[in-house]
Amino acid sequence: MSSLRNIPPVDELLQTAPVQALLNMYRREFVVAELRRLLEELRVGLKTDKTKYSSDELKDMILARLPEILEKSRTGSLRRVINATGVPLHTNLGRAPLSPRALDRVNRIAAGYSNLELDLARGARGSRYAHTEELLQRLTGAESALVVNNNAAAVLLGLTAMAQGREVIVSRGQLIEIGGSFRIPEVMKQSGARLVEVGSTNKTHPDDYRRAVTEETALLFSAHTSNYRIVGFTAEVGMEQLVALGREMRLPVMLDLGSGVMRPPAAPSLGPEPTVAECVATGADIVTFSGDKLLGGPQAGIILGRREYIDAMKQHQLLRALRVDKLTLAALEGTLLEYLLGHPEQNIPVAHMLSRTPENLKEDARDLARKLKKALSGYRAVASVDVIATTDMVGGGSYPTDQMPAWGVELRFNGVSLDRISSELRDSRPAVVARRQEDALLLSVRTLLPGDADELVGVIAALPALS
Ligand SMILES: *Cc1c(COP(=O)(O)O)cnc(C)c1O
Repeated sequence: MSSLRNIPPVDELLQTAPVQALLNMYRREFVVAELRRLLEELRVGLKTDKTKYSSDELKDMILARLPEILEKSRTGSLRRVINATGVPLHTNLGRAPLSPRALDRVNRIAAGYSNLELDLARGARGSRYAHTEELLQRLTGAESALVVNNNAAAVLLGLTAMAQGREVIVSRGQLIEIGGSFRIPEVMKQSGARLVEVGSTNKTHPDDYRRAVTEETALLFSAHTSNYRIVGFTAEVGMEQLVALGREMRLPVMLDLGSGVMRPPAAPSLGPEPTVAECVATGADIVTFSGDKLLGGPQAGIILGRREYIDAMKQHQLLRALRVDKLTLAALEGTLLEYLLGHPEQNIPVAHMLSRTPENLKEDARDLARKLKKALSGYRAVASVDVIATTDMVGGGSYPTDQMPAWGVELRFNGVSLDRISSELRDSRPAVVARRQEDALLLSVRTLLPGDADELVGVIAALPALS
């Protein structure tokens, strides 16, 4: 009990020189609130800790911990992470890092006022969707375009505006779930459209669609099975075939591409995927895809297609709830401009990562290994640092079965568990997320951004587990 009584009061702590110094850096209410929390924590701890502490000892303990607690709060919960997994579109790590052009647009537009919904030429109210519409038309050949919050929203809006209360025909092989939260049957239900499944999981033929069409049919829908692949004895009705079926049955066709490739990635190991422009050119009435998958832009859902359908979506009440803000539009405009007039493979991080050859990845891995060896020489807990060949995945549900040849640095440790190393890496600033390969830590270099390698070396050299 006596230790509890020795806890110094907040007022007394606030008078000390170290806390006075902190008050110059942080808002007073915040410091007081954090002090109170720290004292409460201490009180709880002292109930089980039978050690006797003097008032001065407790004061020292508090003053030693406070700066660190304040500093941690200052950096916020959303933190920068060095991605050493080699997976460029890592959904848990925020998918696509933005290009300099996209960031520049965000900076310019978000810091001030803009013509977001003002038609400057006419001096009249304009549409926020106009800014990216023309760029998307030019890049893809689509008649009309609309951008919403994400691709899930794009599919929901499309189904709602085109098929609410009516039937939508989908192949059983495409009733997919993406990331545990986006399921075609669920989205269909939400939209008020009735799902009509045709074919079997591995085979669907044109006649399956023909037989399913009724008076109630509003739409033929196809989802690109971008995050898994059924291999072996399979048959799906291809895009062109589905579009031809739509013509024959006088029904619109909607394609959910998921990833959407604006330009084919230069990575030779990635299988051929049709580009967005090729999908539009099939004559599909609506095509949707994500802004932050292979496009390499901000989270967004891009809807392309025939004007009459896009206009119906623009007028739909639901759009108000799914609309994108100026930050997204600015970043998307920058990304699209890079595709139109810049050098996407150099400047859009995801496109750049996918275009890396094994040879230049190997060079980066060698460089990283050299720096690590230098920084970690004399660390007894580090057993080895080696450059090794590996394979990377694209991530984000794109190219599910394609492995890209890659290089990385493998670290082995003496007497320290990989669990502890991984946990300390995640707790570092910036945090580091790497791969584990059996009993080694693997740093894949593909996803390191400029400057990351040096910081990564610094973080590893400072891990408490290795000291
Ligand atoms: C990823 C994906 C979605 C969901 O897109 P978000 O932009 O993450 O909402 C929908 N359909 C397919 C086929 C996808 O791959």
